[in-house]
Amino acid sequence: MNFKKPRGTRDILPNEMEARRKVEGSLRTTFERFGYREVQTPTFENLDLITAKSGEEINDHLYTFEDKSNRSLTLRPELSAPTIRLFVNELRNKPKPRKLYYIENCFRYERPQKGRYREFWQAGVELIGSCRPEAEAEVIALADTCLNNLGLTDYNLSIGHLGVIRALLSIHEVGDGDQNLIISFLDKGETKGLDEFSLPQGAVEDLKKITSLKGKGATVLKKAREILSENDSQELEDFSKLLELLKVSGVDNYIVDLGIARGLDYYTGMVFEVRAKGLGAQDQICGGGTYSLVKLFGGGDVPSCGFAFGFDRLIMALESKIGITVDKGLPKVFVVPETLKVLNRAINITSVLRKQISCDIELMGRNIDKSLSYANSENISYVIIISEGVKGDGVILKNMRTGEQRRVKVKEVPDAIG
Ligand code: AMP
Repeated sequence: MNFKKPRGTRDILPNEMEARRKVEGSLRTTFERFGYREVQTPTFENLDLITAKSGEEINDHLYTFEDKSNRSLTLRPELSAPTIRLFVNELRNKPKPRKLYYIENCFRYERPQKGRYREFWQAGVELIGSCRPEAEAEVIALADTCLNNLGLTDYNLSIGHLGVIRALLSIHEVGDGDQNLIISFLDKGETKGLDEFSLPQGAVEDLKKITSLKGKGATVLKKAREILSENDSQELEDFSKLLELLKVSGVDNYIVDLGIARGLDYYTGMVFEVRAKGLGAQDQICGGGTYSLVKLFGGGDVPSCGFAFGFDRLIMALESKIGITVDKGLPKVFVVPETLKVLNRAINITSVLRKQISCDIELMGRNIDKSLSYANSENISYVIIISEGVKGDGVILKNMRTGEQRRVKVKEVPDAIG
């Protein structure tokens, strides 16, 4: 019987795993520098939590199952709903903001293709308790700083604002329900569909105008103000303040795109996306915004903002742009007993060395020549030969790069290999 992995999943081999851990480490450090603390939620959730957030349409994309007590459960398709649930259950009475981050796997039943998997990882943050421009600006600056710290430069950051779009619709007296439907049309790029709404005169036209605004912040804001005309919009002022704060945070490599809609009903303020160049169709490596999920989950009127990196796509972007350098040939030292008579001594020396350095030992009973050629093929830098002829705490240290061999004491090995 030849077993294959399930469709849309991947086996991750040691070199890539090492690279992924490095990227993960960099993200963790950056998240923590901005004051976020890590949380972990269950791999599966009650199905109704996920449908409350994403609507019934999400069902087609879920790995749903019933447990032995007939509870409807689902593997999590993303992590903001679980994280906000955790906040409502455990942290709602703590001072705000709560700043939480996660790096976990998610599951979606989707058609697999390059950059789209059925099991994938997300690394994201939730800033719970504020949607003020300074909170929104900090969230965007965090995403940008993560990419800078990873050395990724080839990406496009686009920032929009659903509050501004909603303000325009409110001016035209479009109710909340219709606003949500219209935003989901915009998200799918179906501006034609807008004609089917019986919207007030001028609303569709204004909407098409405002959502096609794209470019430098100042220019877009000026044109948006003209479209909103006489009507003061707090949202537009907030957006303007957000862009001003981005500037002082050192973020200026973005375009403003009021066409970003991010489909779901609970988005209320800024929305943003990051796309990496050279990834093909699935190039969105990060998406986020401001939303009122806490309210939806019964936790009161607590605004929040956040984002999620598609971790696998981030890895792909780093691979094709800067190449991920991995430490091949770990560990650096390989201990070889010359004969079975010195096996015990070799094992003892290995356990002593492992208190300080990463060290491997011959486990296949090979002779010296074969052990050396194995060490060579594994890119191991040093071999320690344990020889019957060398007594006491002396060993032979062979530098595999230069071929040089010398006697050293066991305790000198860590320094000798540098
Ligand atoms: P979303 O929760 O849909 O906003 O997704 C957030 C990020 O997760 C996206 O920007 C993608 O980078 C990533 N992502 C979403 N779905 C997948 C998938 N099926 N495979 C790999 N990455 C994904």
